[in-house]
Amino acid sequence: MNKPVITVIGSINMDLVTVATRFPNQGETILGERFLTTPGGKGANQAVAAARLGADVRMIGAVGEDAFGRELLRSLQSEGISVDGVKPVTHQHTGIASITISEQDNRIIVVPGANHALPPEDLDKYESVIAQSDVCLLQLEIPIPVIERAVSLAHRRGVRVIVNPAPAQPLPPSVLEQVDFLTPNEHERTWLFAGMDERTLVNKLIVTEGAKGVRIWQDGQEQLIPGFRVPVVDTTGAGDTFNGALAVALAEGKPLAEACRFANAAAALSVTKLGAQAGMPTREDVESLLA
Ligand code: ADP
Repeated sequence: MNKPVITVIGSINMDLVTVATRFPNQGETILGERFLTTPGGKGANQAVAAARLGADVRMIGAVGEDAFGRELLRSLQSEGISVDGVKPVTHQHTGIASITISEQDNRIIVVPGANHALPPEDLDKYESVIAQSDVCLLQLEIPIPVIERAVSLAHRRGVRVIVNPAPAQPLPPSVLEQVDFLTPNEHERTWLFAGMDERTLVNKLIVTEGAKGVRIWQDGQEQLIPGFRVPVVDTTGAGDTFNGALAVALAEGKPLAEACRFANAAAALSVTKLGAQAGMPTREDVESLLA
């Protein structure tokens, strides 16, 4: 079988993770326990999820011309992802997420940097890349005008588009009209439809509901595709794994319910391991859970 071709248009970040027993008080400096850097960003995470599951993945996005940018490009390439569409920009730093983990809680600050430096017009350069894809996959960590341009381009070229509306924010009507699938979690779902009638979009909706699984609507029928019961270690990246896997399954021509079962299996396996990208399963892992 030919590999399904997936274009991911989205964010690429370096996660800077600090582990401490507690958070410092105002004006206080404390010693932390551990520090690590790990590749992240919803775009890159979903690209890695799809590549591990056997897709030919092309990434479109931007990094800074700095050490993190170079490291992230190498890391995507080591997963077999094409980075020809990732532009190194000189006037912005690579996107970062500063994550502090204490025994009680997590605190996260994202600084988008280069992720917000990709002009919408630049997407026109990648029209042929988008047109050659089976599925185009986007999230909301890049500017909305870039998303609008990408969705309209893909729609015009007859390429199926999945938008994962995370982090939650309102989407322009053109995106809601032209997108094939929207994949909010339960929290994002309430945001997406603030002030509008959800029924107009119901056939496009795929709502992830954590361990419960995923809710879909087909021909007016609501269906819950149950999640897999697994020992939970770390749920970071569950949604990203779900979206990458869903894109692969739909690109392979699987019907929606079967594609969601495949994506549930991949996402369930991801929560059994520590880390977002580090916990993402291979095709063999998913096939054996489904067998
Ligand atoms: P997000 O990570 O974006 O908040 P969810 O929590 O809805 O999204 O999780 C996305 C998907 O990951 C779910 O639909 C399910 O397939 C899988 N998943 C999440 N948590 C678990 C869990 N505890 N056990 C099994 N599968 C899970």
